[in-house]
Amino acid sequence: MAPRVHIDTTTCNGYGNCLVAAPEVFDLDPDTNIAFTQPGRPTEADHSDILEAAADCPVRAIRIVES
Ligand code: SF4
Repeated sequence: MAPRVHIDTTTCNGYGNCLVAAPEVFDLDPDTNIAFTQPGRPTEADHSDILEAAADCPVRAIRIVES
């Protein structure tokens, strides 16, 4: 089953590291500069990329919920 991603929007500072690690999964809101997950993502195939994104987030705003 596909994992789920929770982004702490109060902690995210828009550094964009998650977009580099998983560009198909994460995007940045141009108005708020806060990350969000793209529709339908992550999929099972994104698993390693989102693990990398979570590890690369400098403020640890990304939490992965394994289903
Ligand atoms: S790496 Fe972390 S702080 Fe940076 S945009 Fe992604 S979630 Fe936000």
